[in-house]
Amino acid sequence: MAIRWWRKTRSLSCEDALNVLQSYMDDETSTDTALQVVTHLENCGPCENELHMFRRIKISLSQRSDEVNPVVLDALRRYGERLSNGEPDENGSDTGLI
Ligand SMILES: [Zn+2]
Repeated sequence: MAIRWWRKTRSLSCEDALNVLQSYMDDETSTDTALQVVTHLENCGPCENELHMFRRIKISLSQRSDEVNPVVLDALRRYGERLSNGEPDENGSDTGLI
């Protein structure tokens, strides 16, 4: 318990850590702040998870194709195929309306 208290006085609170997390990932914090963030993340699982989540968001934002839901893409593709094949339904009845 004494150790926990000691650490708390030296490192950031969760709120502080999350506030600077974005800047930390963009390398916009001072070395001192970065060190404090790292120290906090080493001792705080939830905040470490936040960092991983932020990283994933950043990666998916940089790879814009990931933003589109693959399920939606697949559904659209199949819909387009069905239209071009002139197959209105799964039961195969071609009414010739399309
Ligand atoms: Zn924390």
